Amino acid sequence: MKILITGGAGFIGSAVIRYIIHNSGDVVINLDKLTYAGNLENLREIEESNRYHFEKVDICDPSKIKKIFHDYQPDAVMHLAAESHVDRSIDGPAAFIETNIIGTYTLLEAAKNYWQNLDSKRKNAFRFHHISTDEVYGDLPHPTDNEDAGKYLFHETTPYSPSSPYSASKASSDHLVRAWMRTYGLPVLITNCSNNYGPYQFPEKLIPLMILNAIKGKEMPVYGAGDQIRDWLYVEDHASALYTILLNGACGETYNIGGNNEIRNIDVVEKICDILQELAPPDPNYSINHYRELIHHIQDRAGHDRRYAICADKIQKELDWSPSESFDSGIRKTILWYIANQDWCEI
Ligand code: NAD
Repeated sequence: MKILITGGAGFIGSAVIRYIIHNSGDVVINLDKLTYAGNLENLREIEESNRYHFEKVDICDPSKIKKIFHDYQPDAVMHLAAESHVDRSIDGPAAFIETNIIGTYTLLEAAKNYWQNLDSKRKNAFRFHHISTDEVYGDLPHPTDNEDAGKYLFHETTPYSPSSPYSASKASSDHLVRAWMRTYGLPVLITNCSNNYGPYQFPEKLIPLMILNAIKGKEMPVYGAGDQIRDWLYVEDHASALYTILLNGACGETYNIGGNNEIRNIDVVEKICDILQELAPPDPNYSINHYRELIHHIQDRAGHDRRYAICADKIQKELDWSPSESFDSGIRKTILWYIANQDWCEI
């Protein structure tokens, strides 16, 4: 297969490319604009492969996108390119509207025009896989003491109710993808995944920010009381789930992907402190005995979602996929990676 991957220089896209090059004979075309979040260093270990190609292109540029489809003749698209940071979407929503909505529309149009001219065998096999987030569903209440946490979960059928400019722009892109399937027959797959963590995540996101601030002896800012709950998935598990769905997912279906790891933000941060304390105790110049002393509560994010939790039964039952990493094993690997790769974080 020849797979066109957008956003392949980002955190998840680069994990998907490394996974496909290492675990298949497929050819990958990485189409990325290289915004602040894109980094070709993430692909260093596979960049010499003759099955890997890179094109610096903006998904909002219709003529360049058309040329990529024409030149490479892909069998599938995995669309990950996006503006992805909620805080940035609050400060400057325009880029999110442009890339996540207009960019997805531009890519859909190019894919549709290309797909309509394929021969019938390739036309039937073609897939447009749109990678989205569980944040499109809005948020869930915290279960009370008498309630089972499983009472409120995001299912594939949960109505959309996005809270932030980021999640609203991703919800819009999901709607566009479904409309291109219903109206034009484009064969699509949609996946909505919970929060990812792991190596190569840009240090503005919660887990790398906390690890790197702690290592440098800087304050570790936690929004509000830190009681927001997220359902964490190790990025390499997300990559394997996406490839499984591309190969075996039923055309037109949506799959939720999650890690069954619901944890409060403050518990994530304290766990990072405790593991760092064991692996790399604080520099004596920091004047602290334990990294937990760096935790600092700040004013909560506007519109902050309370809880995300995925029901991932469908992908487990229909495609026999479940995550390999527990949060304990994944967070330890992640911390070790950031300790060993502080140069990457300075780039
Ligand atoms: P990221 O911000 O790390 O990477 C995004 C990539 O897209 C970067 O390489 C960037 O250069 C590229 N890009 C941005 N605008 C572009 C444009 N106009 N044209 C071409 N390339 C462009 O994001 P990520 O965390 O890897 O997320 C990837 C996808 O997965 C996104 O669609 C996101 O919504 C989704 N997702 C992320 C998470 C998460 O926890 N990070 C969870 C679920 C879903």
